[in-house]
Amino acid sequence: MTAYDELMAYDRVTQALGSVAGRTGWDQETMMPEGAADLRSEEMAALETVLHARRTDPKIGEWLANAEGADAVAKANLRHIKRSYSRATKIPEKLATDLARLASRAQGIWAQARADNDFKGFAPVLAQMIDLKRQEAAALADGGDLYDALLEDYEPGITGAEIQSVFDKMRPRLVDLRSRVLAADGPNALDREFPEDGQLALSAKLAAAFGYDFTKGRIDKAVHPFSSGSGTDVRITTRVNPRDPFNCFYSTVHEVGHACYEQGIDPDYALTPLGNGVSMGVHESQSRIYENQLGRSRAFTGWLFGQMSDTFGDFGVKDEEAFYKVVNRASSGYIRTEADEVHYNLHVMLRFDLERQLISGDLEVANLEEAWNTRFASDFGVPVDKASNGVLQDVHWSCGLFGYFPTYSLGNVYAGCLYQTLREAVPNLDADLARGDTSSATTWLRENLQRHGGLYEPKEVIALACGFAPSEAPLLDYLDRKFEALYDL
Ligand code: ZN
Repeated sequence: MTAYDELMAYDRVTQALGSVAGRTGWDQETMMPEGAADLRSEEMAALETVLHARRTDPKIGEWLANAEGADAVAKANLRHIKRSYSRATKIPEKLATDLARLASRAQGIWAQARADNDFKGFAPVLAQMIDLKRQEAAALADGGDLYDALLEDYEPGITGAEIQSVFDKMRPRLVDLRSRVLAADGPNALDREFPEDGQLALSAKLAAAFGYDFTKGRIDKAVHPFSSGSGTDVRITTRVNPRDPFNCFYSTVHEVGHACYEQGIDPDYALTPLGNGVSMGVHESQSRIYENQLGRSRAFTGWLFGQMSDTFGDFGVKDEEAFYKVVNRASSGYIRTEADEVHYNLHVMLRFDLERQLISGDLEVANLEEAWNTRFASDFGVPVDKASNGVLQDVHWSCGLFGYFPTYSLGNVYAGCLYQTLREAVPNLDADLARGDTSSATTWLRENLQRHGGLYEPKEVIALACGFAPSEAPLLDYLDRKFEALYDL
């Protein structure tokens, strides 16, 4: 066997074990009996120890030194393994353990502080977390920018400065659109109860309509919707709020977008480094284009209106046109995860700017809450009423996830580019969507993007699918067009 073959055989076992660890995590959120929590945390820690030892085994370094990539696939495999091995070996073992221990402690403290609306209760542990993340970033950065080193974990190949320049162009246009939309007359929200069995049945129908393969996946309920796994076993979860069926439907469609990406990857890449979505941003482009550009389109919501009428009878919305407005109703809420398309990216930009300053040391944790509230009032036009609606709303920082937030907006930017190209490539798109048939869109996405898995770098695969380098312009033009028409601006 060549060094490359030996390396790939070794990596295949690591990939399979990683996949088992993922399934164990899925089980914990969906099926696990309550009494098994302690046993499960020991099981997962044991798996993590084995995985860490495999990922940092010096044999990998020797194989890498001798392996040659004969073709594009082999070269991409080596690139991924090299990146992961180099990151895993640069972080001192003690720091990795300290970070894992602090993350599990900080999440409990954050949850309590959020329940108490008390940022001061969370500030000391957050300061410790930032200190450890700065040490981790310094170990990875080789003298370069600390925040950029953290970004590599989620969106390889992009820098904080590049993201900043994209966001600087988005923010004024979104703030302007937001204030025009809120000044106009909008529709009322739905105002009645929608039984759980009807919501779940229709949500399964939506998943099937978007091409989710139930022979290679399943849907269960969980507190937070997520997608887990890749290839032939990709599971999703959803949730039910009796008064807000769109929460269930669009959470499902969002996770179906993530899941279809994983199900759509070339089966030859299974259990190799190419067998997963290439980055968080590209992943989010799939979930968002399914959820928003396709799922919340005038054409598709026309079909959904008929489905909801069949399932729930008269639910207080008179026709398809009125329903399209209700689905896309914009309001300036505090909570990122509940935000509409106009507000969503403003939530992300706020977090990106603040976390970048926290990592660079330009912002002290003691001043974070005030900085959050000032920025929120300026971008959203309303003051924050309590910390759980402001700086304490998201779990990310307590887990040490710095550099993760901007990938949500990058996903929207990429989705904007893909949608512009898709509309040109599929002239009958609206007619198909109006029948509840998404296959022309999802087939195009699978052929042009999803099947490549990790073969290309994130920006490269978007550019390849679109024929141009990713930019914020298509997303902003789409949002202006859509909401100017919806709100008669
Ligand atoms: Zn997502």
